[in-house]
Amino acid sequence: MRIKKIGVVGAGTMGAGIAALSASAGVPVVLLDIPGKDDRNEVVKKGLERAQKSKPASFMDKARVSLIETGNTEDDLKKLSDCDWVIEAIIEKVEPKRELYSKLESTLRPTTVISSNTSGIPMKTLLEGRSEAFKKRFLGTHFFNPPRYLHLLEVIPTPETDPKVVELIKDFGERILGKGIVLAKDVPGFIANRLGVYGMIQAIRIMEEFGLTIDEVDALTGPLLGRPNSATFRTADLTGLDVLKLVSEELAHTTGEDFSIPAWVLDLIAKGALGEKTGVGFYKRQGKDILTLDYKTGEYQPQEKLRTAELGALKDAPLAEKLRGVLKLSGKHGEFMRKLFAVTAHYTLSKAPEIAYDITAVDHALEWGFGWQEGPFKNMDAVGLDTVRQIFSEHKLAEPDLLKKTKDSFYKHGKLLGFDGSYRSIPVRTDTIALAPLKSSGKVLSETKDSALVDLSDGVALFEFRTKMGTLGDGLVRDLNKALDWIEANNYAGLVIGHEDPRTFTAGANLALVLSVAQEADWDTLNMATMQFQKTAMRLRQSPFPVIVAPFGLTLGGGAEFTLHADRVQAHAELYMGLVEVGVGLIPAGGGTKEMLFRFTKELEAYEQADFFEAVRRAFQMIALAQTSTSALEAKNMGFLRHGDRISMNRDRQIADAKACVLGLAPDYLPQLPMKIRALGADGLGNLRYALWQFQEAGQASEHDVRIGQELAYVLTGGDGPSREVTEQDILDLEREAFLKLLGTRKTQERIAHTLKTGKPLRN
Ligand code: NAD
Repeated sequence: MRIKKIGVVGAGTMGAGIAALSASAGVPVVLLDIPGKDDRNEVVKKGLERAQKSKPASFMDKARVSLIETGNTEDDLKKLSDCDWVIEAIIEKVEPKRELYSKLESTLRPTTVISSNTSGIPMKTLLEGRSEAFKKRFLGTHFFNPPRYLHLLEVIPTPETDPKVVELIKDFGERILGKGIVLAKDVPGFIANRLGVYGMIQAIRIMEEFGLTIDEVDALTGPLLGRPNSATFRTADLTGLDVLKLVSEELAHTTGEDFSIPAWVLDLIAKGALGEKTGVGFYKRQGKDILTLDYKTGEYQPQEKLRTAELGALKDAPLAEKLRGVLKLSGKHGEFMRKLFAVTAHYTLSKAPEIAYDITAVDHALEWGFGWQEGPFKNMDAVGLDTVRQIFSEHKLAEPDLLKKTKDSFYKHGKLLGFDGSYRSIPVRTDTIALAPLKSSGKVLSETKDSALVDLSDGVALFEFRTKMGTLGDGLVRDLNKALDWIEANNYAGLVIGHEDPRTFTAGANLALVLSVAQEADWDTLNMATMQFQKTAMRLRQSPFPVIVAPFGLTLGGGAEFTLHADRVQAHAELYMGLVEVGVGLIPAGGGTKEMLFRFTKELEAYEQADFFEAVRRAFQMIALAQTSTSALEAKNMGFLRHGDRISMNRDRQIADAKACVLGLAPDYLPQLPMKIRALGADGLGNLRYALWQFQEAGQASEHDVRIGQELAYVLTGGDGPSREVTEQDILDLEREAFLKLLGTRKTQERIAHTLKTGKPLRN
């Protein structure tokens, strides 16, 4: 069975978000909600509109909304009859959910999979009254908010769920929707919320016990523990205090455990201070400033960042060192951290066997659902289990059974502790490629401080960037050329360029280096370096073997230029790609300007009546406005990715997908032939100059913006002579010349210096 169409019932925050994600993945969706009064589909339409306007965006490409058919649950249930999977995402109450299932049972095809997105109601409760056949095709699928961005999808089978249904949803969720799948047991709150919400509530209570402030707790429970900047209270504000209350009440009710939140938090909720969505919660926005609640007085005060020498010393340490370090902090900060660690680790160890099938699921749930760098079992290993035991005894907590079963760590030499106390091998996945195990098993072919060449086997190697934010400097470019030589000399099938940083593929060329050489006015060196960069980009395409670039996240400037010159791109769905050089007073000169001109012109060559100025205008606009994609789909619409370039929805699969792409292309691979186009010359240049003049007159461009625009226009039109045929090299030469000219100006140097200092562009 395949999932070709999805139904979603409930078009609220989650339902509309799941529909947007599915449509972004290319899957048609039927989205239903309760009927409205005047317009029967008013509720669903409003829900979908909210998703279209949401920030960050729910859709990877706005046009994908056309894949969503809307309706209401009274008139349109039959629209679900050709869906292969129907996801229920309605109000978190048992009765309406049961009622809906009863209707679905009589409407849907007998093979349709049905799942609930409930945050914590056990499936067995929801399934009361349903037939055996229904139960076989029913399971929990718990997406996290927002569904596009949070990687976790908890899949919760019941004992009755057909294992084939579980496999189908796991596989589809992973490959097509790009989620990280964690199998959870059918218990209240499943894994992530049960542990995550417990930890959050404990942090609030222990804060009160030791008299810490909200600012102090957020400073202690964020990046210092390998967790997001939003730490405890900002995360709660983002989730919504009302949601926190609902989830905790439900957990208290269903588990019988103490999930109560302090009275002052309930007061905030009663006052309507629900966090981000109301502009006030634990924090409050005031103009540009953010104020923090003083929970003792109920007043909001200017934020007071916690800065101590002890914390400063830990700030840039490796995670394991930070985790050990925070437990040794002096005074009330140390007491707070030790008690928080004691109660949360103790809870995790006690509950894990009840809520999960193995410890990896627990770690993944917190890593993927709450953005922890490493999950709680990895954290305990890092702290050291003897220390964990000692902290439990200091807090008069009995050693949990699971801890008694360990030797000296939960993970050990490729094995992990099972709940039965035996150490078993960590299952090796054959459908994904992770670099760490390859590196530790001697697959590094060569390495420097800037890069490594890793053997992916089957004749494919991967060139990994190791520089900070993937910046491309001399060393890295030299290494890449050596890697290309190596692939050729060793008759390998091809090369993948990629790496595993969580956020940034590459921030582009090493600007600090460029600026320092420009300030020394060493133009020969700069000319040679730029030429070398261009040659390297061209080599990616002209080598006698396929080169696949696998970008993700930020992919800027020179990094975008390398990507543009790959034989194929295997992009991650979250791709923020742009030729942003004008922001620092330059134009793309690693082949980017040339490539956009050629690409857009070639697209028009098939049309007899084409106006080639359109291609020039399109490239000019993209570069002059430093347009950046907000997803890989958008990068495709903009022209950064070509028709044949591919998208991996799941980051974990990207390198394996890129390798498969090399192997697919290799057998009959021949490099692309050199290209020529007709450059427009003086006529085209005149048009662009006129447009620039208009921008300046309208006050939309500074004098230096115009200067940059003129240089860019000159390159894109092949100069101010008559229209003529140009090669790629002709335009590369113009690119380089313009780049060096701009680099020689004071204002460009000021722009670069400002960006290096502040990370922001300067409009001078
Ligand atoms: P929401 O209140 O934003 O949306 C619920 C939607 O369901 C509304 O549009 C409502 O009109 C509709 N609805 C209510 N009763 C209905 C019925 N009988 N038939 C059809 N539609 C009906 O809620 P949400 O936050 O999207 O939550 C939906 C589900 O997802 C809940 O089970 C919730 O626990 C779960 N969940 C929420 C989050 C979160 O962060 N918001 C995260 C994970 C899971």
